[in-house]
Amino acid sequence: MTGEKSKYPPQRTCIACRQVKEKKALIRLVRIENGVAEIDVFGNKPGRGAYLCSNKICWELALKKNRLEYALRTKLNEDNRQTLIEYSHNLLEES
Ligand SMILES: [Zn+2]
Repeated sequence: MTGEKSKYPPQRTCIACRQVKEKKALIRLVRIENGVAEIDVFGNKPGRGAYLCSNKICWELALKKNRLEYALRTKLNEDNRQTLIEYSHNLLEES
């Protein structure tokens, strides 16, 4: 895919609120070994990914309603879930 001339930055959909935003405005999560969901800080890890807004509300929704699990086709273990919940506590209510 070379020579693709895009006037617009890449866009992705938040799995919680379904808003389409610029990729860089979203936080990517990626499924790594053992079905663990990891925050992909640079947004370029290989594997099944899902995007969430950088706000607490979307994270809570994605974790509580298992939308993240659905999007990543995985089942989070308690440790993993806790790590993500803790991460979300550092986010703002609104992005
Ligand atoms: Zn969102």
